[in-house]
Amino acid sequence: ENISENYENIKKVLSQISNFNSTNFFMCNDLKATSLILGIQNASATYPCPMCEVYDLGVSHNPYLVHTQRTISSIGKNATDFKISNSRRSEAKNFFSCVELPLIPGNPDIKISDIIVPPELHIMQGVVKHMYDNMCKEWSGATEWLNLLGLEPQKYHSGTFLGNHCHSMLQNVDKLRRISPLHILKYVAVFDHFSKVVHSTFGMTLREGYEDEINKFTVAFMDLGISVTLKVHMVLAHVSPFCRKFGALGWYSEQATESAHSDFKKNTWEKHNLQRPIGHLDYSQMLLNAVIVHNSTRV
Ligand SMILES: [Zn+2]
Repeated sequence: ENISENYENIKKVLSQISNFNSTNFFMCNDLKATSLILGIQNASATYPCPMCEVYDLGVSHNPYLVHTQRTISSIGKNATDFKISNSRRSEAKNFFSCVELPLIPGNPDIKISDIIVPPELHIMQGVVKHMYDNMCKEWSGATEWLNLLGLEPQKYHSGTFLGNHCHSMLQNVDKLRRISPLHILKYVAVFDHFSKVVHSTFGMTLREGYEDEINKFTVAFMDLGISVTLKVHMVLAHVSPFCRKFGALGWYSEQATESAHSDFKKNTWEKHNLQRPIGHLDYSQMLLNAVIVHNSTRV
């Protein structure tokens, strides 16, 4: 349905979960939903990271600085101070970009990095596109790599690569190497290292040497001299600590919730003839019926 993804709407949904407080959970969302749930501003904020208070993303980022880890209570306190101060949202940087109380319960001192999973699909798509776009700026022949893989470059002037297409690019860095001019070899190196990071941490098996691979990717990425985005920062700063504690990212992938949207719509809402337009007298009952049918066959 055409309902916007915002703090108030997510609050309504989460407030209906009665056993939320007594359940151990991980949140496996894209970064936009995660920021809304935590009550912090989005990826373009001064302090955009849901997990830490990093403030220097961009071209002058130092990946070796250690930043304060966010907790439920630190976000809550900053958001409360922000509200008391009556500041405009543009001034939220004075409160570590916290603007609302977090919508998740639990121990207030728990680190956000212990309940929020780095979203592997969106991170892979974002990092691959960011590196590819910057490579295109330095080399007009970059589209030839996509042609060799059977991908249509014109489709990707804007928007992200599909997950499968990212995998195809990362598995075929050799083809890029064969056609690269000398000044693009730094991109070949960074794609190669990112491919190894994905292989060793983004699947279902955490492979030996993954921390080394992330360290090598960090060096190669910083060598490009391009901006460090929030998704790149997630790889540099948060994938290693998460994997060390909880294992490979594939177990917590947000792909399941991403595909649940279309699965519910196509295979339950429409297929079982339960769909009604918003405002219809039977809308609520039919929606409840559909959720029961859907969840009963997918637990
Ligand atoms: Zn961070």
